[in-house]
Amino acid sequence: MSLNIPNLERNKPLAPFTTYKIGGLSDFFVEVHTIDALIHALFEVRRNAMPFFLLGCGANILITDKGFRGLVVRNAANKVTFSECEKVVAESGAIVADIIGQCCSRGLSGFEHFVGIPSTVGGAMWQNLHFLSPDRKQTVFIESIVQTSRILTEEGRCRTVGVDYFQFDYDTSILQKRKDIVLDVTFQLSAKQKEEIRAIMDANMAWRNARQPQLEEYPSCGSVFKKIKDVGAGRLIEQAGLKGTCIGGAEVSKKHANFIVNKGKATAHDVLQLIQYVQTEVKRKLGYDLETEITVVGEL
Ligand SMILES: Cc1cc2nc3c(=O)[nH]c(=O)nc-3n(C[C@H](O)[C@H](O)[C@H](O)COP(=O)(O)OP(=O)(O)OC[C@H]3O[C@@H](n4cnc5c(N)ncnc54)[C@H](O)[C@@H]3O)c2cc1C
Repeated sequence: MSLNIPNLERNKPLAPFTTYKIGGLSDFFVEVHTIDALIHALFEVRRNAMPFFLLGCGANILITDKGFRGLVVRNAANKVTFSECEKVVAESGAIVADIIGQCCSRGLSGFEHFVGIPSTVGGAMWQNLHFLSPDRKQTVFIESIVQTSRILTEEGRCRTVGVDYFQFDYDTSILQKRKDIVLDVTFQLSAKQKEEIRAIMDANMAWRNARQPQLEEYPSCGSVFKKIKDVGAGRLIEQAGLKGTCIGGAEVSKKHANFIVNKGKATAHDVLQLIQYVQTEVKRKLGYDLETEITVVGEL
């Protein structure tokens, strides 16, 4: 094995790179700051036939206690370029919150719906980032502003693809079936008064703060279980009387039943046990099968 990657680190603790603050060590780790460095790292793992995981904000994953046997590439390639015709090209490691701030100050609308959600552009594409529309009657998906994207295909080719390529749906995209990597995305935005954009952002933040546990106090990875149409996973968990249930340091949030939070010293094992317990109890009491939305990464 010879990974020829600058600034390669060994035995790197992964917990600090996740919103859960949970997880073991990665055998190898590198943080890349440019798309060229990202492509180079991916070619090196391919040359060495080594398992790899591409990490964004770590906001939709649970890293196991034993950690990851292979290379974790943390994507910090975050250049964002605004051009004419209300377009923005963002590298896949760009943080959505940073783009929202820049869009708001330029009077560009499209991203503001996703305020308060920890995500890189790559992570957002992976699961079709979404939030409720301002009237709370529909869901707004990131796919609605995606125009084209440069990807590195599973086969190792750089290609520019249109939005249809991604086969976006609720919580899913083609990236969950093929090992393509998003390099950058061109978004089509529209002009709007800054005050209107700011009003949507403020309303969304207020909505979140009233209903969801604060990440700084209660580390989590957001909703754990997939939405069940017309019922809602959180509502089922609440109906089953599971709010506040704890295993080790993991707790079904008292504020939002679809969040399992880290009370401070939770292990991945605690979270996984609690997930299983919730699934069993909801099935037993209410007859529904809850499916997880988060990805478990690493050795079990
Ligand atoms: C408090 C909280 C609230 C949340 N609220 C919401 C919400 O309202 N709506 C919502 O949709 N989500 C929500 N989430 C979930 C999470 O924020 C999103 O799923 C987000 O898009 C994850 O992005 P990430 O950069 O953290 O991806 P990561 O968790 O780092 O990675 C997720 C997956 O994406 C893959 N990936 C990352 N970058 C790329 C790339 N460049 N190319 C290909 N694959 C890539 C990874 O390999 C991994 O498989 C919430 C999470 C938290 C913690």
